[in-house]
Amino acid sequence: MNDPLLLVLAGPSGGGKTTVCRRIVKKRRDAGFSVSATTRPPRPGELDGADYHFVTREEFQRLLETDGLLEWAEVHGELYGTPREALGERTDPTNCLLLDIDVQGARQVRERAPGAVLVFLVPPSAEEMLARLRRRGSEDEPGLARRMRTALSELEAAAEFDYVVVNEVLDATVRTVESILEAELHRASRVRDDVLERTAGLRKALEADLAGSHT
Ligand code: 5GP
Repeated sequence: MNDPLLLVLAGPSGGGKTTVCRRIVKKRRDAGFSVSATTRPPRPGELDGADYHFVTREEFQRLLETDGLLEWAEVHGELYGTPREALGERTDPTNCLLLDIDVQGARQVRERAPGAVLVFLVPPSAEEMLARLRRRGSEDEPGLARRMRTALSELEAAAEFDYVVVNEVLDATVRTVESILEAELHRASRVRDDVLERTAGLRKALEADLAGSHT
């Protein structure tokens, strides 16, 4: 058994990362969502333990001190991190865990979990990105400007990723990310043991068949 495939979705706020992750997790029994810890307060409708683990700064600090986070970053003045605990829960190699994190976090995952697959989600346009952020209603105008500034620097990181997907039409984006996931789950290095077992079984059967037909 090896670790679950970590599929990281990063990119600017308003790019649709959370929605894409949620859609895939809802569709696929083999996909889980890595619930991050954060010090930011919940938005209306967000559930503790499902959307985020909402923690105090002290609690976050404790997670850091006990090496409880695979990666972490400060985003817009709040702390966010991926608890290692969530990563250990799935042990089936065909399973995957989706991480909705920022670019700083994605870089740390690449370093610490080399098998992880990094997908960069690009909003189709600045207008659409702003519209999505406004629809969410969680930001005032200075907050929006701050997210736009972060987006500008995050967009420069796109080339570091394994895959880049422009989130033009949600359904198509979900299909594309799922295709990436499906392909990566079949990567030979990932399924080596299973492949060896199956090919050995096939070879044995073929050899037996050949031997039988020559007698
Ligand atoms: P929001 O406050 O809008 O939910 O998230 C702000 C940013 O933090 C988003 O880009 C989101 O992907 C990122 N984020 C959420 N959880 C994590 C995490 O665990 N680690 C890192 N590095 N970023 C995260």
